[in-house]
Amino acid sequence: MSDTIPYGRQLISDEDIDEVVRVLRSDWLTTGPQVEKFEEKFSQITGAKYAVAVSSGTAALHVITAAIGIQPGDEVIVPTMTFAATANSVVYQGATPVFADVLPETLLIDPASVRKKITKKTKALYAVDYAGQPCNYQELRRIANEHGLILMDDACHSLGSEYQGLRAGQFADLNAFSFHPVKHITTGEGGMVTTDNPDFAKRMKTFRNHGITTNHRERELQGAWFYEMVDLGFNYRLTDIQCALGIRQLDKLSDWVKKRKQIAHAYDEVFQKSDWIKPLGIQEGSKNSYHLYVVRVQSGQRDALHKYLRAHGIGANVHYIPVHLHPYYKKNFATQFGQCPVAEKAYGEILSLPIFPTMTDAQLAKVIQTIHQFRERAS
Ligand SMILES: *Cc1c(COP(=O)(O)O)cnc(C)c1O
Repeated sequence: MSDTIPYGRQLISDEDIDEVVRVLRSDWLTTGPQVEKFEEKFSQITGAKYAVAVSSGTAALHVITAAIGIQPGDEVIVPTMTFAATANSVVYQGATPVFADVLPETLLIDPASVRKKITKKTKALYAVDYAGQPCNYQELRRIANEHGLILMDDACHSLGSEYQGLRAGQFADLNAFSFHPVKHITTGEGGMVTTDNPDFAKRMKTFRNHGITTNHRERELQGAWFYEMVDLGFNYRLTDIQCALGIRQLDKLSDWVKKRKQIAHAYDEVFQKSDWIKPLGIQEGSKNSYHLYVVRVQSGQRDALHKYLRAHGIGANVHYIPVHLHPYYKKNFATQFGQCPVAEKAYGEILSLPIFPTMTDAQLAKVIQTIHQFRERAS
């Protein structure tokens, strides 16, 4: 490893590795007992009734749009300040993502923008808990109820966060998580969906396994070889090897979120006094789990600061290019610059600073000091 401070980094203990090796030596590498164990533990920790493990966060988003029956002709509202996979999960079903703008203080989906984008074709609404902060679910739920929409949460940033007494995984009708190494916990690649709805859970389990069901009664009648493919599905299964790692990682979630909060508060202390770098706003009633620590660089110097930090061994990053500005969406969905002005302006100012559970005080001090140095040189 170079001594660059990354913006995020996983932590795997020797015990985690031992557990993975134990599963490697067992009879089940996939579709075995670790999968259910991981799902059970995940639903306990999030407080959701059902958890369905899948092979990535992207697969989690896709099993959601498939399970709720999104199809050609449908529209789904998606905040533009997110990773492209949120919108892509709508396109996978042949439907149209309609981009909503975000709030200037938090960069969370703006309920007023959502209301403007609703049409007769709108079937569902995605919230994205940007950087780890829960959206305004009180208002989003009200909109969903008024218009008969299914409310979905791309919670890939917000495992361990809370909103008005609810935990991430309980905010929306369906909630998607990612276990990519930069996220709160990791399985290498991996994902999970939570829901309280048994029909959705059943459909998602079928969809992740080629659309195949095994009906035990039919098996008894026809023979143990019997199965039926009832829908078109995918192979989105998560292996037992990965689930074993996920089970261990979940034990450390609350400590890691605590550590992330400490780092975020230390940054806040510094930037709240700054006249050129501002932390994102905190919404009342929500407890951020800080997947990212995002600041807005207000002096037109974001790109220069980014370059300076990189040159000094600090892996700052930009999350995200608003999805409606990607060439694919411009070409296929006629999106254009100007349609989400708040996100477009923010895109020129945002910078994600390093934050991860094993970040040391010395690394934190180096990031802050390097930012001060940049300012002194620039002025
Ligand atoms: C990470 C992430 C995803 C995709 O997750 P993968 O596990 O990489 O497929 C989707 N949406 C958001 C907001 C993410 O941060």
